[in-house]
Amino acid sequence: MKITAFWIRRDLRLEDNHGLYEALMSGNKVLCFFIFDRHILETLNNKKDPRLHFIYQQALTLKQKLNKLGSDLIVTHDYPLAAWKNWIQIYDIQSLYLNRDYEPYAIQRDLKISELFKYKGLSFHCFKDHVLFEKEEVLKDDQTPYTVFTPYKRKWMEKLNQIGISKVFIDYRNELYFDQFIQLSPAPYISLESMGFEPSTLSIPGSGDWEKILAGYSTLRDFPAVHGTSRLGIHLRFGTVSIREIARKAFQVSEVFLSELIWRDFYSMILQAFPEVIGHAFKPAYDRIKWLNSEDKFKLWCEGRTGYPLVDAGMRELNKTGFMHNRVRMVTASFLVKHLLIDWRWGEAYFAEKLLDFDVASNNGGWQWAAGCGTDAAPYFRIFNPEAQQKKFDPKFEYIQKWIPEFNTPSYPRPIVDHALSRKRCLEVYKEALSD
Ligand code: FAD
Repeated sequence: MKITAFWIRRDLRLEDNHGLYEALMSGNKVLCFFIFDRHILETLNNKKDPRLHFIYQQALTLKQKLNKLGSDLIVTHDYPLAAWKNWIQIYDIQSLYLNRDYEPYAIQRDLKISELFKYKGLSFHCFKDHVLFEKEEVLKDDQTPYTVFTPYKRKWMEKLNQIGISKVFIDYRNELYFDQFIQLSPAPYISLESMGFEPSTLSIPGSGDWEKILAGYSTLRDFPAVHGTSRLGIHLRFGTVSIREIARKAFQVSEVFLSELIWRDFYSMILQAFPEVIGHAFKPAYDRIKWLNSEDKFKLWCEGRTGYPLVDAGMRELNKTGFMHNRVRMVTASFLVKHLLIDWRWGEAYFAEKLLDFDVASNNGGWQWAAGCGTDAAPYFRIFNPEAQQKKFDPKFEYIQKWIPEFNTPSYPRPIVDHALSRKRCLEVYKEALSD
């Protein structure tokens, strides 16, 4: 039987999934595929990587849902090109449908697969699903990309109003067409162990509770001791929720929350338009900064033992849970770069390894913002004072005491650097680099 293949990647859901909707409309019966990509898995150092375990569980849930519908999710552990060469031989695939992924590796991977399909005379169709607006949709009047957030957001909102909310935040009613899935008996699921991994013990917040925080979001989102943010990061990263569904509700209830989703689009756009931001400062002069790069101090920062309680609480939260509150991400990142004069790329790599919601574009954007070298970054001479941040955002030390049980006891370390001296040193080093 002639089939349309749908390749699930960062869109681990059957409902409100744009590419899948188009596949179900294609006229052929649809079969879903998932690849545990060897290229990606080979880069993971942690055998209990919680993100891999999360994907593993989510793919299993999808397989079970498809099984209930009489269909299946075909799963393999392979290199994508090899997997598709194999599947093209096994199944009578006429076309491949998928949602676009904008990360540099994914763009190259999808290019190779599209060439394979073209070479075999089969069709290949990509759709927007991961973001609300893609790079080409929000451009300056001269058709070049924005590099500053505020005008980008203004144009983004203009575009939304022009096209209409119901068209941009469209709800794809895939469930009405589930009878288009091909009927076949289920194959056994792959084991994590066969791929060289083990289950993680880290618990991952569900995606069900987030609506409750919307009403209070604008007032509570900056206080790390409060459950004031959505914790949707990992779900948006892997598409276990639809960004359009989140935006529909955000639009009705919280403009501030919608603005955060626009930041997400902004950084995704920046990564596509300026892929050189990976490994380089967006503003090239900042690559001249003479970092001190002390390995000992970096280790203390990673372990949450700098003697600056807000920094330490944040790093310990990250190490224990894979999450860190946004306000604290800004403070810890700024501290590493400006107080310790350690290259922002070291911190970026550490967050990439630890964050459950790690996303190349947003992580890079966040780090370059903190270092002052990115798009729309704070001027370099604005240096966060960790103590002042604590007074403002954790005035009763609730967050700090939660993560640092020995806080206010002799076993809590003394500050590893002096704030005033570090601030002065940072200003001198940045000034020297930027005035060359
Ligand atoms: P909420 O406040 O509930 O926001 C909802 C969603 O909006 C988030 O899940 C996220 O998808 C998006 N969002 C919110 N703030 C931002 C932002 N500033 N930039 C881009 N998108 C945003 N976010 C990531 O998703 N992945 C990362 O790897 C990442 N690394 C960061 C590194 C640094 C140094 C900094 C300062 C920020 C980083 N962020 C990153 C942005 C932000 O901290 C997280 O998105 C947020 O803390 C996730 O928690 P939440 O889901 O509760 O967010």
